[in-house]
Amino acid sequence: MKTDIEIAQEHKLIPIDELAHSAGLTDAEFEPYGRDKAKVELDPSRKEKGKLILVTATSGMPAGSGKTTTSIALAQGLKRIGRSAALALREPSLGPVFGMKGGAAGGGYSQVLPMEAINLHFTGDLHAITAANNLLAALLDNARHQGQVVLKEIFWRRVMDVNERMLRNIITGLGGPANGIPTEAGFDITAASELMAVLCLANDMEDLRARIDRIVLGLRPDGTPFTCAELGATGALLALLLEAFKPNLVQSIEGNIAFVHGGPFANIAHGCNSVAATRAALKLADYAVTEAGFGSDLGAEKFFNIKCRAAGFKPAAVVLVTSTRALKWHGGVPLPEIGAPNLEAVERGLVNLDAHIANLRHFGPNIVVSLNHFHTDTDEEVEAIRTRCAALGVRFAVCDGFAKGGEGAMELAREVVEAADDPHPLVHTYAEDAPVVDKIEAIVTQVYGGAGVKLSAAAMKDLKRLSDLGYDRLPVCVAKTPFSLTADPKALGAPKGFVLPVERLILNAGSGFVVALAGSIMRMPGLPKRPAAMGIDVVNGRITGLA
Ligand code: ADP
Ligand code: MG
Repeated sequence: MKTDIEIAQEHKLIPIDELAHSAGLTDAEFEPYGRDKAKVELDPSRKEKGKLILVTATSGMPAGSGKTTTSIALAQGLKRIGRSAALALREPSLGPVFGMKGGAAGGGYSQVLPMEAINLHFTGDLHAITAANNLLAALLDNARHQGQVVLKEIFWRRVMDVNERMLRNIITGLGGPANGIPTEAGFDITAASELMAVLCLANDMEDLRARIDRIVLGLRPDGTPFTCAELGATGALLALLLEAFKPNLVQSIEGNIAFVHGGPFANIAHGCNSVAATRAALKLADYAVTEAGFGSDLGAEKFFNIKCRAAGFKPAAVVLVTSTRALKWHGGVPLPEIGAPNLEAVERGLVNLDAHIANLRHFGPNIVVSLNHFHTDTDEEVEAIRTRCAALGVRFAVCDGFAKGGEGAMELAREVVEAADDPHPLVHTYAEDAPVVDKIEAIVTQVYGGAGVKLSAAAMKDLKRLSDLGYDRLPVCVAKTPFSLTADPKALGAPKGFVLPVERLILNAGSGFVVALAGSIMRMPGLPKRPAAMGIDVVNGRITGLA
């Protein structure tokens, strides 16, 4: 089979104005960015009409489980059975593209296009967020340098969209008084920044302004918070984010409309594309298919408890992606042997599927398990998974969207239509105004299958400060490994009875949540021994090796 980029480059794209008009957009509602991308601003009178379908997965493994590929396949499958379906997906980060995982525009015959643009600079949103974040850092440091504000602690960090471990902890302002105040500082990756979460969760421009105003930059000597509003930086940030806030319209290989917009990571941030993009998809199609990052313990939990709550979304059904590889990994098979047939390991790994089904059942909407088909799968392995789903009374479909596009996802599409025709109300894991620790405990016991939470000494201090400042009842965004339901990436399968260690509680007042750091989670990834960057080139004016 051809590589993702070969398939993508062979495909003839629908011109962007034709695509936009076919989706019912008026000329005033979109602005082309070149031939095949557009920024969209829908008429405010448009009503949401679609059913929202969330795509999530069983626990992660180093090779990726196929959520984006399945989401695109499902939208294409829905189109083939005569339903209109729009996608709402995250924008890739250059970190994974040049690091370990590669691109994030789907795979095989289920991709969003133009894949090179989407994976690289696209419409510049990530660059705009990076610039706005760093302008804020510069304005803050300037106000300190000019003697306009004194802070005893600074929370705001710089960001860039490249994996760079050497910049995690740095000292700025060296070189004497003319060059600023020596300060311990550091960089996070843009996808982990509060500004990314803020852009993704804002309902409209006024909400974006209010959220940026609320960002707490640091603490004054008397312990009171110093906010972005007090600094007076919000207007300039809004100017930098004005275009970035508008959803980007592109297309799937089979001509579905796709909004690819906003890209917070799911292990260190809330892991969902923008509210604006999901809303646009809901307004334009009968089915809006959206993905939340990593497993149902991470992306889906945050999708339901943070994003749906912030936006008032009511998901109609959930697709739980799994693969024989993911189940083998959780059945204890090492990565190099993951492609070889191994029925026993798949059967051992089914406990992880069980745990994610049980977890998703708490939330209400019907579940469809989608087996992302790899050509190495054996019939016995597929039947073992089908049999388990039947025993649990959960819908099941094999999805071969990678090799066959929408045709390989028609069975999944039919199951999803049925599941969504029987809606169940969304049940949140915790009450909106519950104390932060109660919220974490509810997530651990109801979603992870654990027994409780243990705060480190530093986290206890954080908690005290959150309550002093009046932020101890915000929603919680847990930062933890995607490879396990626990905080330990080596604890595979479905561990029970564990206690989740929380190292820090970090205030993100603009996003409107507290980040609970569980285990050692990096907000700035490093590059692996052989970065994907080493295989990427330009040959005769075309990009090669992007996967
Ligand atoms: P996720 O969204 O869960 O991280 P992706 O859909 O991005 O996963 O897929 C991860 C990688 O695996 C991509 O490079 C994709 O091309 C590849 N992939 C996904 N599904 C298949 C499949 N069925 N067969 C072969 N490769 C696949
Ligand atoms: Mg993905």
